[in-house]
Amino acid sequence: MTKKFADVVVSGGGVAGLAAAVAFGSSGFDVLCVDPSPMGTNQKDPNADLRTTAYLQPAKKFLEQIGIWQLVQGESAALNVMRITDASGNEPQSYDFCASDISDEPFGWNVGNWIMRQALLDRISNLPNVTFLSGVSTNRILRRTSSALVGFSDGSSVEARLLIAADGRNSFVREAAGIEVARTDFGQMAITFAVTHPLPHNNVSTEVHRTGGPFTLVPLPDHQGKPCSAVVWMESNANVETLMGLDVEEFNAAATERSANILGPLENVSRRMPWPIISQLANRFYAERTALIAEAAHVVPPIGAQGLNMSLMDVQTLMELALQNQNGLGSPDQLKAYQSKRFNDVKLRHAGVGILNKTSMISIPAVQRLRAAGLQNLHAISPLRKAAMRLGLGAS
Ligand SMILES: Cc1cc2nc3c(=O)[nH]c(=O)nc-3n(C[C@H](O)[C@H](O)[C@H](O)COP(=O)(O)OP(=O)(O)OC[C@H]3O[C@@H](n4cnc5c(N)ncnc54)[C@H](O)[C@@H]3O)c2cc1C
Repeated sequence: MTKKFADVVVSGGGVAGLAAAVAFGSSGFDVLCVDPSPMGTNQKDPNADLRTTAYLQPAKKFLEQIGIWQLVQGESAALNVMRITDASGNEPQSYDFCASDISDEPFGWNVGNWIMRQALLDRISNLPNVTFLSGVSTNRILRRTSSALVGFSDGSSVEARLLIAADGRNSFVREAAGIEVARTDFGQMAITFAVTHPLPHNNVSTEVHRTGGPFTLVPLPDHQGKPCSAVVWMESNANVETLMGLDVEEFNAAATERSANILGPLENVSRRMPWPIISQLANRFYAERTALIAEAAHVVPPIGAQGLNMSLMDVQTLMELALQNQNGLGSPDQLKAYQSKRFNDVKLRHAGVGILNKTSMISIPAVQRLRAAGLQNLHAISPLRKAAMRLGLGAS
């Protein structure tokens, strides 16, 4: 690599890291982003991340601002209603939370991660001040008062005013900075896959609760003329192992049964991918010349579409602080301001999602009845229902 200096080095090119590179690049900063893993931007690529992400209103607005939303909106599906179905009793009970109660817009829009990655890479290729290096990892860091000297697996190094750690839950940058994490392992995994179904989803995202964790169907655009949804199926580790071993017909039957048959028989039309479910929070989000974002800073179970949405809020906050004082990029004051704007909001959401996940795993009937009663009350009391929806969208 010929580059010796950069305003910003982004370690990690997941969706969050690439979004950070685009955000700083479109604001005029000189950026280098590196990632060791294959990008997998085609759905058929075995390396592709086939998860989908529900981008909530604030995330969509930010992606519009940095020129990304325009590239993916044609491949997104709107989420107008969040339906929570309690299937622990004899008759499933459903409660609808409608975006129209609090807004003129849908709650969010669902987009495949591989599509978002491709859009981000396309945008980067049009930003001459952003360099993205695939197949390269960060492996050395020397922090100084005025800059960070960041070393890479290709033997090169770059001096940057700000190092952004977007290198995931096992972040090298975070560990090198000596920042500790609190971690909870739920003994749970999520299987993600796409299904077609005979009944239309009508832009309703449905979480079906019973035991083991939620089974969530999130609308996608039609697949080969049939209604299609992305599924996140959370279960105990042992059950996931069994489910992953089922043949296609057995798996379709199990998924249909677990969905309480709300959209009719489900047909799996993508690879099934297992993801370990943990909750993790770094004890601070910065070190000298370094900011932690996304899963390097916080990991939550995939409930309520919070993970990547919080990550984009991290990126937006860092970018706004940098634009307020460009000379102070990466300075102690700027990083402390980042910590104070993000840490408490993330901590609150992190705790809330952890509680929701534990509640959804419950298998004791009496406690399941309490869960159902709580949900019924939350839904019935209009101000409470609207406040919960606003909180879910990102209002603190
Ligand atoms: C099943 C599931 C469903 C989800 N659904 C949603 C949803 O609907 N809405 C939502 O908001 N969130 C969702 N999330 C959360 C969301 O996917 C994560 O928040 C998001 O992927 C975090 O991205 P990241 O960039 O931090 O991590 P990653 O995607 O893991 O990216 C980290 C990158 O860092 C790279 N890297 C690792 N080590 C190094 C190194 N030394 N140097 C440089 N690079 C390195 C890796 O190769 C990787 O590409 C979901 C999560 C799961 C598990």
